[in-house]
Amino acid sequence: MISVQNFGAENRVVVVGAGIVGLAHAYAFARRGWAVTVVERDLAAMSATVRNFGMVWPVGQPLDDRRGLALESREIWLKIAREAGLWHRECGSFHLAYHADETAVIQELLASETGAQIGEWQDADTVRSRCPGVRAGTGGRGGKLEGALWSPWELAVDPRRAAADIAEYLHREFGVEFRWGTSVSDVIVESDRSTTVVTATERLTARFAVICPGSATDHGFGKLLASQGMRRCRLQMLRAKTAIPVGKHLCAGLTLLHYGSFADLNGLPAVRQRYATEWPGYAEAGIHLLVSQHGDGTLTIGDSHEYEEPFRPYLRESIFAMILDYFNTFLPIDGIEVVERWDGVYGKHPNLPYLSLDHEGTPGPYGPVRIVGSAGGAGMTLSFGIGEREVAKMVGEAE
Ligand SMILES: Cc1cc2nc3c(=O)[nH]c(=O)nc-3n(C[C@H](O)[C@H](O)[C@H](O)COP(=O)(O)OP(=O)(O)OC[C@H]3O[C@@H](n4cnc5c(N)ncnc54)[C@H](O)[C@@H]3O)c2cc1C
Repeated sequence: MISVQNFGAENRVVVVGAGIVGLAHAYAFARRGWAVTVVERDLAAMSATVRNFGMVWPVGQPLDDRRGLALESREIWLKIAREAGLWHRECGSFHLAYHADETAVIQELLASETGAQIGEWQDADTVRSRCPGVRAGTGGRGGKLEGALWSPWELAVDPRRAAADIAEYLHREFGVEFRWGTSVSDVIVESDRSTTVVTATERLTARFAVICPGSATDHGFGKLLASQGMRRCRLQMLRAKTAIPVGKHLCAGLTLLHYGSFADLNGLPAVRQRYATEWPGYAEAGIHLLVSQHGDGTLTIGDSHEYEEPFRPYLRESIFAMILDYFNTFLPIDGIEVVERWDGVYGKHPNLPYLSLDHEGTPGPYGPVRIVGSAGGAGMTLSFGIGEREVAKMVGEAE
């Protein structure tokens, strides 16, 4: 039996997907006074949003509009974290340099026109006094700590709690309704001001439907994102207990090769070449290291990047061994106990920070249905900014 809920009112919206992108849209509508219903097919958010590092990490974004989007998101995270009582830490981030070519790349970035916006160089003694767990160096291909790029803007949030806590906050504060364990099979455009979201048991009619399906491609919405360039990427991750006080987000030279903020620097090819020689197989497996520490002291450690589908249904121990080998160059491996291993999948567009499509899979114009996704490895960093911008366009506040 299917119930029909013709919300009728002009200010109703249905959001599909309770990952961080869906929650960000729900928040942006709710704070404007709209009545919001979120429909999620799992019993709780279980996908990329709960499998990540919990790093809100503007330093990884290129210095174009994406950095602005990341900083906007950061402000909203802080506001919601304070209002909702979410665990978070204004931790900042170190890019550790253990080789002269890594130091050169960081210095090149900092000397650029916009470098000062990102952060500052700190010498090895300062880094180790602020983050005593960081190793002075292991020699050989591990190198010796020369210093680090310090960026103060980064936040740590708890990826295992954040989505559930934000959902609870949205319900409590704004009356947002959640339909858990409910799959959306279709979204029908009724007119240019009305749409109906179809589940097995309900038809929800509203002014807008925003579909935020993450990397799922087993339905038409995901297929539309894929048709516009979304590529799926699978990552392997670890969780470890430790007594090491890390506190800050940490990464080292390998990470310079992976993020847009460093992509155009003249010194980067030398770093890439050295890693290809000294750390064979790492580039092929897409391995680079990020480490975040949570409120209970545990570390999330990753990651690898796999693009070839179908993804294998099992995790590769050799990848974990490579991740931990490199980890040991900047934090002591004998100081941790690995307690969990998992994988996660995100959808990513090769050039755009994210995709925003209408019901036919084209970028515009803004009508009653919007499909938003493909924030790649930066969804936690960008989502609240994406939600604000998209909703402003939908309701006609922005072009
Ligand atoms: C291992 C890993 C580490 C990462 N680390 C970071 C990090 O530290 N910092 C950072 O900024 N980003 C990080 N990311 C990226 C970030 O996690 C993602 O970009 C973000 O979580 C994507 O959010 P989403 O809401 O689009 O997708 P998801 O979290 O996948 O949520 C989509 C939701 O939609 C639901 N859904 C799909 N189809 C339907 C349907 N038909 N009906 C109802 N519900 C549906 C799904 O069940 C799911 O809950 C990481 C990603 C991974 C995988």
